[in-house]
Amino acid sequence: METSARIKISNDGSLQVPDCPVIPFIEGDGIGPDIWQATRMVINSAVKTAYNSGRKISWLETLAGEKAYQQTGNWLPDETLDTIRAHVVAIKGPLTTPVGKGIRSLNVTIRQVLDLYACVRPVKYIDPVPSPMKRPEKINMVVFRENTEDVYAGIEWQSKSEAAGRVISFLKDEMGISVPSDSGIGIKPISEKNTKRLVARAIAYALENNLESVTLMHKGNIMKFTEGAFNQWGYEVAEERFGDRTITEDELFGTYNGMRPEGKVIIKDRIADMLFQQVLLRPDEYHVIATPNLNGDYLSDALAAQVGGLGMAPGANISDKCAVFEATHGTAPKYAGQDKVNPCSLILSAAMMLDYMGWKEASLLTGRALQTTIQDGTVTYDLARQMTGATEVKCSEFAKRMVNKMEKL
Ligand code: NAP
Repeated sequence: METSARIKISNDGSLQVPDCPVIPFIEGDGIGPDIWQATRMVINSAVKTAYNSGRKISWLETLAGEKAYQQTGNWLPDETLDTIRAHVVAIKGPLTTPVGKGIRSLNVTIRQVLDLYACVRPVKYIDPVPSPMKRPEKINMVVFRENTEDVYAGIEWQSKSEAAGRVISFLKDEMGISVPSDSGIGIKPISEKNTKRLVARAIAYALENNLESVTLMHKGNIMKFTEGAFNQWGYEVAEERFGDRTITEDELFGTYNGMRPEGKVIIKDRIADMLFQQVLLRPDEYHVIATPNLNGDYLSDALAAQVGGLGMAPGANISDKCAVFEATHGTAPKYAGQDKVNPCSLILSAAMMLDYMGWKEASLLTGRALQTTIQDGTVTYDLARQMTGATEVKCSEFAKRMVNKMEKL
């Protein structure tokens, strides 16, 4: 086999993945080490089973969170960000946000510094995971949430602060708008550039995966120049960059009699509150959803609950230059070091990473092994408490059973 090498990005944005890529990992805090060990075992086995000795991942530890603080005195060393940038693809466990120590969320910092503008969250039901839905098998969608702006931009001022007072005075004196003098103030920027790059990525994903539709989720009936503009720019970028491969819902019914032409993606839009009830009542009508930051935050977790909760939900934060795959839940500190929790979120995120690298066989194998292990009724505590007749196993044992399955698939 070749010696290890870095993944690179070509000028057209495609990845060049060597047979032995170096992939940085951040173990994470709390339950991070447990789920990371399990994930690493499963992914090494999937790659070996799929490609024999033809491919192998060379893992490279990079530090963040408590481990980084203990070893370097810094919660998020610059070297870690440089390492992720240089290696293009990375994976991370959950990180604690130290409360009350004046430290920003490490997760948010990583996303902002690396400009990871798309938070991608696939939501697919894995039978027989307990679900509150009557027909959970109808859920199969991918949420593309804008990750850098909206009310998450961090532009806000506390009630009665000097800065809030200045903004309130400006609104009154310069704009003729009156707001209560004791208001806290937040700003909601949504830009054309950031909206278009997010929606373009969502449409490209739908085209690559032959998915039926991309839905623009917004609250533009109320917030016309932010969420409404998101919707308008979404349609614009569909026309500008994918005009020959997309149609609107009006065209679907007006021109094509309701039958989607082969190879075309339908672009539609839905008001946010309405979409929340639609994904419960008619989930099979939604395939890719592109949304501003706040809507996306709510929707991703609500959808994760529909297919079994955050312990089962994979995710990634992606820019044009690098991608970080991560468990969507937190550090669950009360279970730290107990080898107890469900590693599926990080394992499924790693499977997403393999797919992103073009290692589809290993990705599919991971998904199949996970499903058959759960079908056998061997699950961690969180699922065992909801499934009758299931056998509860530890985090590491779940991973070992997945590896055994893989060898037989
Ligand atoms: P959390 O760590 O996600 O845990 C909340 C509860 O969710 C757990 O007590 C457990 O429920 C369940 N859970 C989470 N992960 C699980 C898993 N792998 N398997 C089974 N059950 C799981 O949320 P939190 O307690 O609000 O946050 C703790 C810390 O994590 C905070 O410092 C927060 O800032 C951080 N955080 C980090 C990230 C990230 O790194 N991306 C994301 C969110 C939060 P039961 O108690 O019912 O068993």
